[in-house]
Amino acid sequence: MQKRIEVNGKELFVSKASSYDNCIEEACSIIESSRFFKGLKETDKVLLKPNFLSARKESDAVNTNPRIVEAAIISFKKKLSKDNIIVGDSPGTASALAVAKACGVYDVCKRHGIKIVEFSSHKLVGLKTFRRISLWENYDEYKIVNLPKIKTHVFMTFTCAVKNLYGLIPGKVKAGYHLTHPVPADFGRLLYELALKVNPEFTLVDGIIGLEGNGPGSAGIPIKTGVLIGSDDVFAADFAACSAAGIDYRIIPYMLAAAREKSINPSTLNRVLSGLGFPLASYRLPDGKKLVSRITHSRLARRVFRKFSSKPRVITNACIKCGECKRICPAEAISMSPYAKIDYSKCIRCFCCHEICPAKAIEVANGLDSFLGRK
Ligand code: SF4
Ligand code: SF4
Repeated sequence: MQKRIEVNGKELFVSKASSYDNCIEEACSIIESSRFFKGLKETDKVLLKPNFLSARKESDAVNTNPRIVEAAIISFKKKLSKDNIIVGDSPGTASALAVAKACGVYDVCKRHGIKIVEFSSHKLVGLKTFRRISLWENYDEYKIVNLPKIKTHVFMTFTCAVKNLYGLIPGKVKAGYHLTHPVPADFGRLLYELALKVNPEFTLVDGIIGLEGNGPGSAGIPIKTGVLIGSDDVFAADFAACSAAGIDYRIIPYMLAAAREKSINPSTLNRVLSGLGFPLASYRLPDGKKLVSRITHSRLARRVFRKFSSKPRVITNACIKCGECKRICPAEAISMSPYAKIDYSKCIRCFCCHEICPAKAIEVANGLDSFLGRK
């Protein structure tokens, strides 16, 4: 049963959904009730942007569930030709096609005749304070429908609607921005400005089963949350998503930036969401994240960030020597000899290696414990 609330002129939809088996009808209902859907023209083109992280199966809950993508396709096919709808992303290592095949989205797209696009070509655009950033060349030809998933994130604490838009930066260019913005507050600022620029027309959050603990990759633990969230405001969607997960928005760097710049109104949203019974779950945060997220917002702490922050550590026994971490590392801090080995003098703590490792062989080591030699 869907609730539609208007918050500061923006639409927010919340629907409790207990499982993926019966979510398509609810998800379609949210999309088709939105002002955006009602205003779509036959000639419009829609990009469905799921969260494609890595080539994992559906039950790992690492990528947006295929039924959420299918619901969006079913809805938009009611107004647009199938040739005006694409599914696209630029995953960390594997191709969009490989991820889609592994998680079940490929079968959905094949059944509905929808093309899967890999973001490879890019163009430079300006953000509010970042002068130039690379985005997929054709991103502004489409109405963007953001299909993120609720997950914890070892670097950003949380990932959902705002962070999913980072996938519009093609391929390895993404890794370069980690290198130039190694501090969470700075990277969060980049994500905030990117979301302002891209401004997706609609966001539908896959919050039926999220990921807690050391997400967003295979080291995260699936957690039932039972919710679908829709909004024409990407920040309101994320606020509702972190609230559903029981995570304080103030420890998420880009949400803090959004609140400071009045892109969200936390008190109004909190009042509305608590009236709907939020939070719906209590996600375990990434190891050591609460403390680190708080302190890295202060200038003084940035100086000691490298010393005390959590760091990736290779569990040699678990390493299958695939080299994925070495390929994705933006700082070229990983060598293979024969197992993955990290050079901490180069490591910028972006945790891309942890995200991508298929064997859970890169753990997040608590920085203070490491400093005190306890781990
Ligand atoms: S640490 Fe993980 S990603 Fe790196 S080589 Fe080993 S198994 Fe592969
Ligand atoms: S070793 Fe891992 S955490 Fe460090 S810079 Fe490379 S990818 Fe990022």
